[in-house]
Amino acid sequence: GLKHIQAIAPYVGGRPISEVAREYGLDESKIVKLASNENPLGMPKSAQQAMLKAANELGRYPDSNGFELKQVLSARLGVPTDWITLGNGSNDILELSARAVAQMGDEIIFSRHAFAVYPLASQSVGAKAIEVDPTAQFGHDLPAMLRAVIASGEKAKLVFVANPNNPTGSYLSAQEIEDFLVAVPPHVVVVLDEAYNEYLAPEQRYDAIAWVKRFPNLILSRSFSKAYGLAGLRIGYGVAQPALTDLLNRIRQPFNVNSLAQAAAVAALQDEAFLQQGYELNRAGLAQLTQAFDELHLPYLPSAGNFVLVKVGDDDGAGAQMNLALLRRGIIVRPVGNYGLPQWLRISIGLPEENAAFIQALRDIVSSTK
Ligand code: PMP
Repeated sequence: GLKHIQAIAPYVGGRPISEVAREYGLDESKIVKLASNENPLGMPKSAQQAMLKAANELGRYPDSNGFELKQVLSARLGVPTDWITLGNGSNDILELSARAVAQMGDEIIFSRHAFAVYPLASQSVGAKAIEVDPTAQFGHDLPAMLRAVIASGEKAKLVFVANPNNPTGSYLSAQEIEDFLVAVPPHVVVVLDEAYNEYLAPEQRYDAIAWVKRFPNLILSRSFSKAYGLAGLRIGYGVAQPALTDLLNRIRQPFNVNSLAQAAAVAALQDEAFLQQGYELNRAGLAQLTQAFDELHLPYLPSAGNFVLVKVGDDDGAGAQMNLALLRRGIIVRPVGNYGLPQWLRISIGLPEENAAFIQALRDIVSSTK
């Protein structure tokens, strides 16, 4: 293999329920998985119905250009359809962005503790990944990222910014992002990854579409995997001005988004009630978890997403050790040692009873090791 490919650290996902059940001799139905920032409500019923209807046409190829979904998105977002790229999950958009603008010897800039696909997408095109030191709270330090872009000069081709970021849950204000977009040289493309955007509180929300209209070097990346509950179908989209969108569309696989996903996404986009229910459930679940962490005197980071990062010990084995103890009790969460955070665990926010099962297990473990 090529050296830059061999250097890539493989992506580590949440462990599947069936595998954990087998390994720890547990009943699958009793396992609680809070490991992949999935929607605890599952898929919206509206999307399920649309998908089943679309299943009758599976003998045909998907619509390569996603006509119907783009119509709905276009009306919703207030941009023409040629500003939209559909992706096989928003991961696809992240990767297409790297492939469209960067190659061997170029540089791609992002924050330390940012989403794991940024280094993956960067290294797979042979670009050098520049990791910028985060803020004290592990958030993106945008002024420092800007300095890194400037220092990189002509080599800098792309910057990944996640808002909120996974796994830290950190949030950037509209002013911080806008100052950054204004200052970034126009030859550098900025991907603003908004996979968890729908979980932002009303006072945290901002008009990213206005930025796309203003900045020809901006790509917004959005997902149907989280708030819309369609993680298993793999669908997301990018929004950018037509010149940049055209590049992404040229290099994507012609049928990168399957027909079931397209049909489900059209339905999910129109299901306001599902989105609202998920939002409220998430707010309540976050309060439930953080209250338990307070009681157990475990530090955690404020989160703007559907997950929370909690510090479970002071030594570098703490995260892995607690993860194992939780697995034995049938609770799957996400260790984040591969993100450079070995003392922490990332907990996805679940249903109230799932959160409670996790909290009970955590209490048991903490009290048995005192
Ligand atoms: N961006 C961030 C910050 C994420 O956490 C994730 C999911 N883990 C994604 C993008 C990709 O999600 P998907 O490909 O399912 O849309």
